[in-house]
Amino acid sequence: MTTAYISEISKYEGQDVTLKGWLYNKRSSGKIKFIILRDGTGLIQAVAVKGEIEDKYFDLIEELTQESSLAVTGTIREDKRSPWGYEMTLKSLEVVHIAEEYPISLKEHGTSFLMDNRHLWLRSEGQRHVLRIRHEIIQSIRQFYYERGFTLIDSPILTPASVEGTSTLFETDYFDGKAYLSQSGQLYLEPAIAAFGKVYCFGPTFRAEKSKTRRHLQEFWMVEPEVAFNDHEDNIKLAEEFVSYIVAWVLEKCGRELDALERDKTKLEKVKAPFGRVTYTDAVERLKKEGIEIEWGDDFGAEHETVIGSWFETPVVIEKYPAKIKPFYMQPDAENPDLVANMDVIAPEGYGEIIGGSQRDHDLERLKKKVIAQGLPLESYEWYLDVRRYGSVPHAGFGLGIERTVAWLSGSKHIRETIPYPRMLYRLYP
Ligand code: ATP
Ligand code: MG
Repeated sequence: MTTAYISEISKYEGQDVTLKGWLYNKRSSGKIKFIILRDGTGLIQAVAVKGEIEDKYFDLIEELTQESSLAVTGTIREDKRSPWGYEMTLKSLEVVHIAEEYPISLKEHGTSFLMDNRHLWLRSEGQRHVLRIRHEIIQSIRQFYYERGFTLIDSPILTPASVEGTSTLFETDYFDGKAYLSQSGQLYLEPAIAAFGKVYCFGPTFRAEKSKTRRHLQEFWMVEPEVAFNDHEDNIKLAEEFVSYIVAWVLEKCGRELDALERDKTKLEKVKAPFGRVTYTDAVERLKKEGIEIEWGDDFGAEHETVIGSWFETPVVIEKYPAKIKPFYMQPDAENPDLVANMDVIAPEGYGEIIGGSQRDHDLERLKKKVIAQGLPLESYEWYLDVRRYGSVPHAGFGLGIERTVAWLSGSKHIRETIPYPRMLYRLYP
């Protein structure tokens, strides 16, 4: 007997196959019993009619509990009325394991209960759709940089110091000393551009942020490109092309998931380069005019980002922030040294910042002064400053947060559902 997956069932129309999976649901109306099976690739209904299937199999269905594992064998038929397009006429079944009473029923549960059972919640259709979209986003990212000739540089997770100060660093013992979990791979990518030209890293990053918001995790995945000879404008262009590419990929590959999640695809179809653009200074002016409290020099919060995002249908690039609220490594703006050549990309529909990046300062002496002025130990950065000692070049890069991108594209209200096992302020289980 051929063993098949539900996703490829159309190939077996009219044939007998075996499907292996878990019992999603069942119901019965006297002489007919219906099993809904899921196998990780899809759902299908199998129908058993008393008299047409051996009694021992018909009776076995009675014993099946939700999430029991089993193998079903029968004939595949096209069925236009079925939400899955096909049905199986059951001929036999084999129980692999009868599940204990399953804690997650098909009715509504509270989020805290579902998070305690995250390892089981993963099996639910909605969660599976979001994580399939995550999977495709990651695939599109790899493909984007591969097509453009970037080299993947894996940055270390255990690091001796931080990129931007120590307040949000996770510290761990490292033999006789201390190490910190990486917050960003950027410092390690900059030296690599002199070896490979165009590079990117992609991995988990860790921030001990005490904030409990819908868009902050303590562990999240970030993709960071870094390009030799790119300036501020090149950096924005790369970010716009990158985000547009991801969105187009997800629209192409995840139509089923987006529909099941009731995501408004017309909003995503508008995501094409060039994006909306506003300077930090103009954004502050406009926010003030709209009666929103902010002063030049303040950083934008989530509320500000939501308003700025609403000015455009595409994502929006906010550029040239005050130098005093940004880290030492950013290149000063060519016209106004109080500003830096940085940019954030804000997703529309209130999803907030998905990208933060900048042109990097490539002037050795100026950079040294800024390291000292920001109270950072110069000796820890000597290796990083070497990028400016041996063939320094203008260069730029940015970081895109995977989970915020998944939340936006899948329409998830909270970032906790966009990663298989979220790490949050009050959650390290399971
Ligand atoms: P925010 O101001 O929202 O905390 P940030 O300015 O700290 O963001 P960056 O340091 O620029 O963010 O990081 C680059 C990207 O990484 C962000 O645009 C976002 O997509 C993502 N990111 C940052 N912090 C988190 C977090 N705690 N959880 C999930 N994603 C994050
Ligand atoms: Mg932050």
